[in-house]
Amino acid sequence: MCSVDGERGNWTSQEVFEEINSLLNRLSSEDLSSLPAGSMGEDQIALQRICNRVQAEGLRRLRRFDTGRGYAPSGALSARAWLRWRLNLTTTTASERVAISRKLAALPQTEQALADGDISYRHVALIAETAGQLGEKFDAQGETILVDVSKEVCPWRLQRAIWNLKHCLEPDGVLSEANKANSRRFLHLSQTFDGVYRIDGWLDAEGGAVLNTALDSIMGPWREGDERSATQRRADAAVEMARRQLDGGQLPEVGGQKPHLAVSVDMATLSKEPGSMAAELEWSQPIPAETARRLACDAAITPIIDGEADHTTRVVPGATRRALIARDKGCRFPGCDCPPAWTDAHHIKHWADGGPTTLDNLILLCRRHHRLVHEEGWTLELAQDRELIAIPP
Ligand SMILES: [Zn+2]
Ligand SMILES: [Zn+2]
Repeated sequence: MCSVDGERGNWTSQEVFEEINSLLNRLSSEDLSSLPAGSMGEDQIALQRICNRVQAEGLRRLRRFDTGRGYAPSGALSARAWLRWRLNLTTTTASERVAISRKLAALPQTEQALADGDISYRHVALIAETAGQLGEKFDAQGETILVDVSKEVCPWRLQRAIWNLKHCLEPDGVLSEANKANSRRFLHLSQTFDGVYRIDGWLDAEGGAVLNTALDSIMGPWREGDERSATQRRADAAVEMARRQLDGGQLPEVGGQKPHLAVSVDMATLSKEPGSMAAELEWSQPIPAETARRLACDAAITPIIDGEADHTTRVVPGATRRALIARDKGCRFPGCDCPPAWTDAHHIKHWADGGPTTLDNLILLCRRHHRLVHEEGWTLELAQDRELIAIPP
């Protein structure tokens, strides 16, 4: 492009944009159903490289727009304000884009790799940010390292390489960054009006890794037939972790008592008499009768029945539980292989309906299947050979 006294010459980028658009029209009019699906992989790679190149050209032109104050005639006060206004960008995106276009002026290798299509905008953003943080310590050699890494790995892994580079060049800075990350930690646990709890938080790298490792171990590998999403499985694992801490009895006492969850429920509710009150869980809102029946089923949660804590009568005696574990070896629900530690003792006929707390009337169910049977209306039947049959509602 040549430019004479602010005027574009006889060669304008407008023509090029028209050509690019007509080429894109050719692509979008292609009937993909007639093409082998496998060929779309190569197309993804080619299109990603083109996107990268387009980003590079956009940043190059933005730099000229910004440094030459090309936005001024429109009345906008900055390139960032103009981008927000005319491209409908958020403030963050517009600021980042202007900052990167400026920093790229001093990062020739990075700019070239983006222009060649070899690395993406996100890689460039990370390299530019690092260059800004390290200042004069970031030299051409450092840039070569990061550009080479960017060509091979995703931005997430590039971040690790950056971490290592920073550690070499500025170990004190890395420590103070880690301390800053640690001071940003928080955990919100709040209850919404409909009684649901919401968790929201930040952990530093170490805290997050500890939590992730523990949750991963409780989640275990995905099992055939498990219809929960990954996030649902993680939510269940977090609750399971807390439940085991409570059950394990290792937690410090609160108000002279081992911490435990109590459910207040009337006998009428437990035996599902019509017109009975809802049950109440400590720290929570009223819960459905069937949930109270499940919680009381194994008496793992102390039921407060008709106002009296019920510690003894329904608790599965140690010897019975040991026999139950020896017999069932884990969750008995068809196809489930949860180990005994993750299970409740379920009364096939609930004790509130007169079912005895004896081996014949008990089976082990994992928390998920226990819930399926109580709240979600599945029924269990024992076949002649004592094989368990689960019937959906
Ligand atoms: Zn049960
Ligand atoms: Zn199970």
